[in-house]
Amino acid sequence: MEVDAAIDDTDDSPKEACGVFGVYAPGHQVAQLTYLGLYALQHRGQESAGMAVSDGDTITVVKDMGLVSHVFDNRTLAPLQGHLAVGHVRYSTTGASTWGNAQPIYREAGDAGFVLGHNGNLTNTVALTADAGILPGTVTSDSDVVAELIQQAMVAADPGLRSDGRDLERALIEVLPRLEGAFSLVLMDDSHVVGVRDPNGFRPLCLGRLDNGWVLSSETTGLDIVGAHFVRELDPGEIVVIDATGTRSLRPFDAERIDPKLCLFEFVYFARPDSRLYGQTVHTARQRMGEELAEQAPLPPDTVVPGREAMVMPVPESGIPAAEGYARRSGIAFGQGLVRNRYINRTFIAPGQDQRSQKVRMKFNPIRENIAGKRLVVIDDSIVRGTSTRAVVAMLRQAGAAEIHLRISSPPYRWPCYFGMDTGTRGELIAANLTVSEIRDYLGCDTLAYLELDRLVTATGVASRGFCTACLTGSYPVPVSLGRVDDDLPTVDLVGPNG
Ligand code: SF4
Repeated sequence: MEVDAAIDDTDDSPKEACGVFGVYAPGHQVAQLTYLGLYALQHRGQESAGMAVSDGDTITVVKDMGLVSHVFDNRTLAPLQGHLAVGHVRYSTTGASTWGNAQPIYREAGDAGFVLGHNGNLTNTVALTADAGILPGTVTSDSDVVAELIQQAMVAADPGLRSDGRDLERALIEVLPRLEGAFSLVLMDDSHVVGVRDPNGFRPLCLGRLDNGWVLSSETTGLDIVGAHFVRELDPGEIVVIDATGTRSLRPFDAERIDPKLCLFEFVYFARPDSRLYGQTVHTARQRMGEELAEQAPLPPDTVVPGREAMVMPVPESGIPAAEGYARRSGIAFGQGLVRNRYINRTFIAPGQDQRSQKVRMKFNPIRENIAGKRLVVIDDSIVRGTSTRAVVAMLRQAGAAEIHLRISSPPYRWPCYFGMDTGTRGELIAANLTVSEIRDYLGCDTLAYLELDRLVTATGVASRGFCTACLTGSYPVPVSLGRVDDDLPTVDLVGPNG
């Protein structure tokens, strides 16, 4: 099935790459649990959804383009009987948005088939492909390359023989150290569920406990929804194997490669606010970002029209917690100035409407009574291209806002992400090309301020933990010399301190 819809080009947010889920739970309806888990991870990818279920003998894969609720229903879930499963929701950052690239990916390896779901982006795909002798065109995404390498390793180690139950983990121990970049993986053969986190832990992945079972999920919300309790986050560089004997931990990477660098934007934007990262609730961290922002960039004195009423308002939904924090710290009243149409997703169709402002109007509608004549402090979490924000500012002006003071709860986004976020090229990043005052003029707001990086890190509540900040600083934790075809900068500029 092809998605025949206009991509929402008014969506100015960075796009998450994927969500993964796994469950080993004899006696449970694992397909239903995976459905629920994927539902709780839907924000991480809306282009395709899929799951694989095993009954200990046969692996069945169901995947399709679209949202979880479109791909699965009782009819598709009912035949998926078994006691272990993995699932995936996808937003394509490499590889086209097609059925063939939907995950989990299935591969035969002798009698032992396996499936793989991947969150993140590899940064050495080209080299891996060449080294493995993979012919051009035979793999269509970096995830496909990983599956191909694992398959090759399994076949080479044990050609034609029945699995002894350790084939997949032996292949992983051989293949994973060759991978560079971001990869939180879930894998499954007929009797094991496996979770993997890359040595930097760019993307989250956690382990939970069910009665008589175990769960892997990109975020803790995937545990909550199935009634699993949180056990721990997987360590960067860790493999967790789950089978009938319980869980085992393997560590295939050299110690010097282990360098925790959780994506800071998981805290800012990507993760669900009710998830916990590094032991911190994301919603609370975002409120603290708003508090830091209020201290760093207060509303200027009302010298133009003394006594004019002020209001702190979010760009919904993602700006809400930071706006609450800003209001709390500043003492300025919090209010809603925009209502978001909840039924619009990334691929909403705008029939006959080409104007960006019209598309933004489909997404937001102003509450004029709350806005008119006021000094607005408008809070959003990030500005990527600036197009959507500009349309929002214009909408607020038309609704009668007297002043618009835009406050962003993260620093300027200046560098592309190579670790599983779609932010576009440097040419598309407004902060890579304009100064803050030029951005203010382009957006049409009265004042503009971005949260400083050290305040953002402080607001996470875990400043002592490792973070990737590459898109904000240009300091990439691992070399990124892959030369994305759509990038407009020489790759040498993007090599980080280790490169
Ligand atoms: S570059 Fe930015 S978006 Fe990408 S992993 Fe690092 S912090 Fe996250």
